[in-house]
Amino acid sequence: MLKAMNLTARWIFNLLTTVIFMFKLFASVQSVIESEEDKVVSYKGYSVIRVVPRTKDSFSYLTNLTYSKDVSYWLEPSSIARPVDIMISPKKKASVMKGLFHYGMHPKVQIEDLERLISRSKNDSDEISARVATSEEYFFSSYRRLDEIYNYLEGLQSRNKDTIKIENFGKSWEGRDLKVVKIGANVNSSPPNNSKPIIYIQGGIHAREWIAPATVVYIATTLANEALDETDKRLIESFEWWLVPSANPDGYEYSHTHNRNWRKTRSKQVGICRGVDPNRNFGFYWGGKGTSGDTCSDIFRGSKPFSEPETRAIRDLVLGASPRVLAFLDMHSYSQVWLYPWGYGEQLPDDHQDLHQMAKLATTALAKVHGTRYRVGSTTRLLYAAAGGADDWAKGTANIKYAYTVELRDDGRYGFVLPSRYIIPTGQETWTALKAFADGLKEELDHPKIKSA
Ligand SMILES: [Zn+2]
Repeated sequence: MLKAMNLTARWIFNLLTTVIFMFKLFASVQSVIESEEDKVVSYKGYSVIRVVPRTKDSFSYLTNLTYSKDVSYWLEPSSIARPVDIMISPKKKASVMKGLFHYGMHPKVQIEDLERLISRSKNDSDEISARVATSEEYFFSSYRRLDEIYNYLEGLQSRNKDTIKIENFGKSWEGRDLKVVKIGANVNSSPPNNSKPIIYIQGGIHAREWIAPATVVYIATTLANEALDETDKRLIESFEWWLVPSANPDGYEYSHTHNRNWRKTRSKQVGICRGVDPNRNFGFYWGGKGTSGDTCSDIFRGSKPFSEPETRAIRDLVLGASPRVLAFLDMHSYSQVWLYPWGYGEQLPDDHQDLHQMAKLATTALAKVHGTRYRVGSTTRLLYAAAGGADDWAKGTANIKYAYTVELRDDGRYGFVLPSRYIIPTGQETWTALKAFADGLKEELDHPKIKSA
């Protein structure tokens, strides 16, 4: 009897010890993960190289490079003869270069030392700040943090009370506000006038693409200013503009504070890696080509469609306004392409010619400002397949006719780390493109094409 009790006590003791050990182990793994997350990532010695695969073998070598911290794509392999940009750590540089040469490719180094470029682009903004004249020019002399962007927009709104309204439409995973800036002649009328078609534009769904939020804020500024001008009043009289400057505020902040190369959201996942690629998380052909189920991948699609609070909030905002939403533009960088659906595969929407034509109108006007050339086409055909994208969902589910993904400057010289001196020129040309685009839409609304039954 005594022996049995002893055995039971020992068994309980062992069980407790194991549980405590497991708990401690879990806690220490967790704290390693947490401290890993808190580290500021340095890209010292990392380079970004461009190669153009010319043969099937070289293309397949590129597609089979393992996606890791040491080797990752900035511009993914899409097809033979299309450039591929790869970021490589100093540790892996020699072996990857050897492979590239082996397959007859001639890598061109675009960025020699990424960390040096990152810190140089910070100094670049100090230099510009010293030279600018107006407060708006000052604001656009560098890439601003989220708070600065929101404060700036509040200021813009307080100077344009009749034409601007700012609303919160949700919260990010870490609790930051998601804001939409509504600009139009009737946004503040009472009773509300909900008759105008909406042009919806968002930026920053990918954290590291800093030029996108900057450009959306630039557009808000110009719209507010031009609205005062009699000749351009039509832009806010004919349409309501809904601008979301930061569609992924957690990722954006993290790319400022910890990791300049961060792309995804910041939600916790099972395993050691964080974040979901929000532009693979929309519920249209979710989980298809160009997505990954690996939580550590930059194109991780999430555990299910709309797993992220950010994509859910965008979905609800847009669906809440449909069918008024006539155009949906998702601003990204880089590549200088104006893309339309589908991103899930080679197919084209029935009205792809209309989308192509309207994009051409925009990019032709854009090129006249600073000579910047854009290509126009479907995501899959021009770039690569990427299912679960916002634009596919906007067209396929929300039934928005003119849905686009716009990849802003540049074409690879600086990639995501575009120096801040390019914010204003990028803003100017994109604004001109949107003006032509809006005029094209207006023309179509006034003189609808006769559709055959
Ligand atoms: Zn992007």
